[in-house]
Amino acid sequence: MNISTPSSSDFEIQKILTGLSDLSFPDQTILVTGGSGFLGSWMCEVLLNTGANVICLDNYASGRPENTEHLKNHPKFTRIVHDISKPYDPGRKVDLVCHLASRASPLEFEHYPIQILKSNTLGTMNALGIARKYEARFLFTSTSETYGEAAIFPTPETYRGNVNTLGIRGCYDEAKRAGEAFCMAYFRQHGLDVRIARIFNTYGPRMRSDGHYGRVIPRFIDQAVHNAPITIFGEGKQTRSFCYVTDQITGLLRLAGLPDLAGEVVNIGNPVEWTILDLAHMIIELTGSKSELSYQPMPPDDPTRRVPDITKAREKLGWEPKVELKDGLMKMLELK
Ligand code: UDP
Repeated sequence: MNISTPSSSDFEIQKILTGLSDLSFPDQTILVTGGSGFLGSWMCEVLLNTGANVICLDNYASGRPENTEHLKNHPKFTRIVHDISKPYDPGRKVDLVCHLASRASPLEFEHYPIQILKSNTLGTMNALGIARKYEARFLFTSTSETYGEAAIFPTPETYRGNVNTLGIRGCYDEAKRAGEAFCMAYFRQHGLDVRIARIFNTYGPRMRSDGHYGRVIPRFIDQAVHNAPITIFGEGKQTRSFCYVTDQITGLLRLAGLPDLAGEVVNIGNPVEWTILDLAHMIIELTGSKSELSYQPMPPDDPTRRVPDITKAREKLGWEPKVELKDGLMKMLELK
């Protein structure tokens, strides 16, 4: 990466590195599952910039080779096509395993529920097995979805969740909950240094908007720039809290890199809550779009509110998000 003539995304990388300046990963070997996905590719790029060796594992189910194409000739980068729900051995010492591999878009839950269950249960077990064999630290990217239709806002890590096992979202929510249980089992039974991040809605460049992949922000942006109807599910009164990718990766790597956090679970998200309708209006305004709103049926089990309590992240990680929604959306439009 040539820092002297930075491309736009180099500035995003620098932002993350600034938030990690008290941590050090040089010469560590770090395995990132889902390394060519939206979050995984940013994580790989940042880790390479810290001087780490990075092994990126991806089966390109929802990740895309182009996300890591610009890294593929980096001397410390190894890219392997593999589905982590099947056993894998890197064959060399690994210091940290970051398990990010999973489809995450609710639009995919209907089409790929078995894959989603496998990558978060069998995949987590296989990734934990690698960490155990090489005595590595382990980061699991869990989700705010473990809280389901929550009853406490902002939601703290101590809230145990209200999830419909049998519903359309069950494949994701319950798989992530099982993934967390796997982590805690390896922590208790084998003394593995596991850390669990509960990620709240995150957005930024490299997110997919095509086909079944579209999360709300890339979808609305895509619709707005094409002056196509903006598809509001329900009345758009449901809320989400949107974390820009540079903030999210900083939080995740602080959780992975700081000492004395074995067995901890931490919410990583932005604590500012927005209705989906307000989000749509903001995107229409920022893009100067002529799009109209098109109200569609509300998908089943779509959580009514979602907002994280990030007290623990502030205290244990010395972290909080810095990028406001409007600024993050403008960056996304610029770098898309
Ligand atoms: N949403 C919407 N229109 C869309 C896509 C999503 O109104 O075209 C809403 C969806 O109902 C949910 C929120 O936006 O309440 C966030 O959806 P997303 O798919 O990003 O993920 P979720 O937070 O539900 O996991």
